[in-house]
Amino acid sequence: MKVEAVRGMTDILPQEALLWQYVEAEIREAVALYGYREIRTPIVERAELFARGVGEATDIVHKEMYVFPDKKGQMLALRPEATASVVRAYIEHGLYAKGGVAKLYYLGPMFRYEKPQKGRKRQFHQYGVEALGSLEPALDAEVIDLAWYIMERLGLRREGLFLRLNSIGCPEDRPRYREALREYFLPYREELCPDCQRRLEENPLRILDCKVPTCQRIAADAPRSLDHLCEGCRGHFETLLRYLDALDLAYELDPKLVRGLDYYTRTVFELASRDLGAQDALLGGGRYDGLAEALGGPPTPGVGFAGGLERLILVLGERDVSDRCHRIITGPEVYLLPVGETETAEALRILARLRRAGIPCDMDYAGRSLRKRLQAAARSGARYALFLGEEELSRGEAKVRDLASGEERYVPTEELVAFLKGAS
Ligand code: AMP
Repeated sequence: MKVEAVRGMTDILPQEALLWQYVEAEIREAVALYGYREIRTPIVERAELFARGVGEATDIVHKEMYVFPDKKGQMLALRPEATASVVRAYIEHGLYAKGGVAKLYYLGPMFRYEKPQKGRKRQFHQYGVEALGSLEPALDAEVIDLAWYIMERLGLRREGLFLRLNSIGCPEDRPRYREALREYFLPYREELCPDCQRRLEENPLRILDCKVPTCQRIAADAPRSLDHLCEGCRGHFETLLRYLDALDLAYELDPKLVRGLDYYTRTVFELASRDLGAQDALLGGGRYDGLAEALGGPPTPGVGFAGGLERLILVLGERDVSDRCHRIITGPEVYLLPVGETETAEALRILARLRRAGIPCDMDYAGRSLRKRLQAAARSGARYALFLGEEELSRGEAKVRDLASGEERYVPTEELVAFLKGAS
């Protein structure tokens, strides 16, 4: 029986991986320009980190998290997202002690047991930034500007994208807003889906992002969090809007945007693509001023976002970006064709030397007819084929054929690096 990949977990094959490398390199460069430095946290964490951080009643933790006991019975989880891990690491390593704002970014696989579909996988990849240590709305604005800048660098047109924005207030506002929502939804209780009936008790905010059409219809007229903000939160939001205007960044206020993670406070946003259909969010984020404290650290405000690489690739896959992959090695420049064992030994020495000189090269390992080997050389995309026969070797030379023009010349093997460098 064939062993296949797990449902919802996808192989990224070499041709597509080129696009991934390009996108990842652009993201790394973009975030570095904004002052973010990389943090790499483990893929496996204690399950309780996400229960406490993301929230027990969220879909992500309640329904979608991969949880398993280790050999000692400790409950572990494959990370479903990285903000909780980054904040855990921030606390654990006392990064707050340095003062100021800590700007951290990550990139890597996340796991959620969701129904796989276009743009929704069980193993997927996120990049994200977290700025910890400031309540200033200027930081929210800068984070949103960074989200736009990443899209810009990748060549996505602004008109094809839009920003959904909302403020869900602080923990002091939350009970009042929850109550208003509960009062509103209670008469519709029987019409809500079973999940939302549970949410009505546990956290009625979650009903707002339910995907079931009936629930969405009922939620359309639900009370808006913006109408339940305290003065501080309202001021924060208004200042943020002014900063976004100053940056010339458009937004659409979306009262139903609450995001599926409990740790958010105040600002929440999503950057979406008009070309993606149902799963249109390219990235999502917001402020999480209570998270560090909830995880046992000193009270530390934070703001950030996470974006899905699969969705970016989907949007970019439609266009040809091969010219932008130029910095990535895509194939050999030189293809070696040794004839026997002695020549193969020499070929291995030449390959080692060329690679150390930064020249991508490969050789024919299949030992077939000359015609087949020449075909392999042409298929490799190399510019030169390098023939090593008994005769050439006895003179310390190799025959170099330009595969485009067919032109041939003999080059002393000691001078190959200089010759090939000169030719490029
Ligand atoms: P979230 O962590 O749920 O706020 O999601 C942030 C971003 O990650 C989304 O906007 C998507 O781009 C991406 N994302 C979330 N879940 C998945 C998934 N199952 N498959 C692919 N991308 C995802």
